Formats: sequence, structure tokens, C-alpha cells
Amino acid sequence: MEHSEAYMKILPYLEKMRRLRHTASIIYYDLACVAGKDSIKDESELLNHWLAEAAKISQDKDFIAIVKEGKEDKNANPMEKRLFENLYKEIEFMEKFTLDEYLEYRNTISDCNEQWRICRPKNDFKGWLPYWKKQVESSRKVARKMMKEGQTPYDTCLDSYEPGNNEAFIDSIFNPLKETLIPLLKKAKEKQKSYAIPALKSYDKIKQKDMSLRMLKAIHYDMDKGALMESAHPFSDAFAKNDARVTTKFLLEDWRSNVFTCLHEGGHALEFQNWTDEMFENHVENMATSAICETHSRFFENIIGRSKAFMPILQKDASDALDSELGKIDPETFYHLMNEIQPWLIRCEADELSYCLHIIIRYEIEKDLINGKIECEDVPAIWKQKYHDYLGVEVTNDKDGCMQDTHWSEALWGYFPSYALGNLYGAMIKEKIEQEMDFEGAIKENRIDKIVKWMREKDYCYDYLKPNDWIMKVVGKPLSAEPYIKYLKDKFE
Ligand SMILES: [Zn+2]
Repeated sequence: MEHSEAYMKILPYLEKMRRLRHTASIIYYDLACVAGKDSIKDESELLNHWLAEAAKISQDKDFIAIVKEGKEDKNANPMEKRLFENLYKEIEFMEKFTLDEYLEYRNTISDCNEQWRICRPKNDFKGWLPYWKKQVESSRKVARKMMKEGQTPYDTCLDSYEPGNNEAFIDSIFNPLKETLIPLLKKAKEKQKSYAIPALKSYDKIKQKDMSLRMLKAIHYDMDKGALMESAHPFSDAFAKNDARVTTKFLLEDWRSNVFTCLHEGGHALEFQNWTDEMFENHVENMATSAICETHSRFFENIIGRSKAFMPILQKDASDALDSELGKIDPETFYHLMNEIQPWLIRCEADELSYCLHIIIRYEIEKDLINGKIECEDVPAIWKQKYHDYLGVEVTNDKDGCMQDTHWSEALWGYFPSYALGNLYGAMIKEKIEQEMDFEGAIKENRIDKIVKWMREKDYCYDYLKPNDWIMKVVGKPLSAEPYIKYLKDKFE
């Protein structure tokens, strides 16, 4: 591929950034999985040092000039075009604020987050409220400053995570989804009463780790180009071209958590392991938006991992790794055990039917909050009402209510919808794969590599594009909730 002049000039900066981020990833992984309690402080300082080195590059005057030049370059190839667009977005943000304004905003966020860490375990919403109000006020100011013609303040938040999205579009997707999910969840809960779901036994970490490795192998995660370790909050990261690592956590009393965490994080890492050489050559790896990334993780976790076709593989591995008794459960019951519907307070590890409702609740609240239609002090009551109305769950405290996620304390406004959008994209991709190959057959014969190959050739290779352009390339249609609604109805109705 021919490169533009601007690309050749920016290349040394990009190579340096890539090395710095690689180093930072290794330190972060070590911090989360290996470092002892007393070594965390020193190692965090080391991490911050390398992150600051990376940040220096994006503030370099020459670098900024080249980015602006590249953005205007008519000869840029599609990958370069997207690369410069993305680099410009970061610069554009910094250009709208003075350094003092920016630092003040960052400080408001870190104060708010620090206070959240103190107040949340104590269920102390009132103690957190003044810090949160201050941060929300700053976030509203930032949003108003970033607004372009025709945008609402919250639109700018959505656009920062999923370029091109706005609240009118998300409403048109989430409203029909909500109307379907609320009655479907009630129906599925009723239906579930007729199944006898066996009680879970507890298994030690050694057995569960064996299970983790089997799950990663089943989806053809390449262990030679990665690693698996344990961390309090599971994650995955693309370190480098031949290194995409994952972590899991072990709940001794519920072994399903580790299984679906490994399929989720493994699903993320499969995408990283299958980026094309061309993407690395053009420095557009690692540009997929969070919705695109969540599409792939939730695809392997749910659409494959919780499917009937995958159950014999899962059951045999569970029987061999954990307990031969699990192999004796009849297949239909085992399937229901892996697909148990349990609406509850917490978003993480929510079942497939409740999950999007947790997200829609957050979306509806944060949209009104950033647009100034409601205030922070109104949130606990609205939260309780929505959990009652949508999920049939009674919220008894703020700790496991509106204070449960870190997103709002860290000002990650507009991030939540990405999780649900990933589900919707995934169902569209499933429909497309089914038109082109025997999807269920590939899972049944334990040949998930055939599905990974399809994704490498027709999906992962485009994931540097903006979400709307990417989904058009992959399935030929714009985002719609229909395929996901159909998928859930077929499965749970
Ligand atoms: Zn994820």
C-alpha cells in the first residue's frame, strides 16, 4: 500500500507511541495480576511515567502540525484517513481548552472518583453527592463546549465513544428493544419455574483454571500469542502483534462465572490476535470502538458460549475438569443451568435477558443528567423506580444501586450504550454468517476456528472503521435492533 507524505512523517512518532503503550500494558498486567500489595505504589509510579511519556507525544507541536496536514491530505488511503481522523479527535479536544481548564476538569474527576471509592462501601450517597455534582457540572460544561450544530450536550458524549452516534438514533434502537425485553423477561422467568435447575457445587481454583484453559482452547484462542492470569476485575489487552492477554476471576461457589468470563475476554483477544498485517503496517490496530470490541466478546460469550450447539463441548469439559457428576446432568437441564434467568441488582454477570435493561436504565438517566433535565440528587429515586419497572428488582441501597459502577464517578458519560450495542451488532453478524456457512454445524463439530476464520476475513479486518461504516462492510446493513430481538425471542419465548 502506497503511503502519503504525512504518513511517512508521522511514522516515527507512531512507532514510539506503540513501544510506550506496549511497555505500559505489560506494567498494567503485572500490577493487576502479579504485584504484591506493598509493591503497587512503586509500580503505579512506573506506569504513570510511561503513560506521561506517551502523552507528551500528542502534545508535541510538530506532531500536531503533521496530524493536521494528514487530515487534509486527499491522497491518504482509507486506513491513513481513519488514522488521522482519530489522532485529530484527541488534538481537537485539547485545543478547545486551556491547559489549566483541562487540568481542573481532570482534578474534579479524580476527586469525585476518590470520594466514590470511600463512600460506596459505606453506602454513603450523601457524602459523595457534592463531589459528584461538581464533576457533573464540569462535564456539562465540557459537553457544551464540544457541541456542534444540531447536537445536544449528551450527543457529544456518545460521539466521543461511537463516532457518528446521537441520542435520537440510540433512542430509536433502545426503545423497541425495551418494549420487547420487559415482557419477555417476565415470560421467561415464569417459564423457568417449570425447569428443575440443579444447585451449584463449589470447585477450587486449580480445577477452575483447567476449565479456563479448555474454554480458551475451544474458541481457538492462541495460547502461544497470549497468557491467562487471575485478576480482581477481569480484562483483556492487545499488547503487541503477537501478544493478546486475558485475565479471569474464580468464584468458588459459581463456576459459571469463570467460564463466561474466559469466553468473553477470550472473545476480545481473538479479535486482537486476528488483526491483519496490513492493519499493523498502517498503525490502525487497536482502533475498534468499545461497541465493536464488545460485539466480539459478547459474541463468544453468549451467541456461541450459551448456545445449545456449544453445550456438549462445555458439559464435557466441565465433567473432565471440575466434576464427573456434571457430565451426568441431562443435556436440556444443563442448557438451562447455563442460561439461568436471574434479574438482580448488579449489571456485571447479569443474564442475557436482563443485561440490556441494566444498560438502558443507565442510558436514560445519564442522558437526562448531562442534558440538565434532572439533577444528581434525583438519581437514587429514579434508579429505584426504573429497576422496579423494568427488571422487577427492588433496590434497597445506593451501594448496589446508582453507585455500583465506576463509570459515572470517572465521567465516562456515553460509554454505557456501547455494551448493549455490542449485543445488537453481534446478532446481525450471526445472521450474516448463517447465510454464508453452517454456523451451528461448525460449533457442533467443535470447529469454531471456521467461525474465527470468517470473522478474520470479513469482520476484524474492517474494525478500524467508524461503527456505521464497519457494520455496512460486514453485513451490508445499518444497525438495527430487529435481529437481536428475533434472536432473544427464538431463544427465550
Ligand atoms: Zn468486554
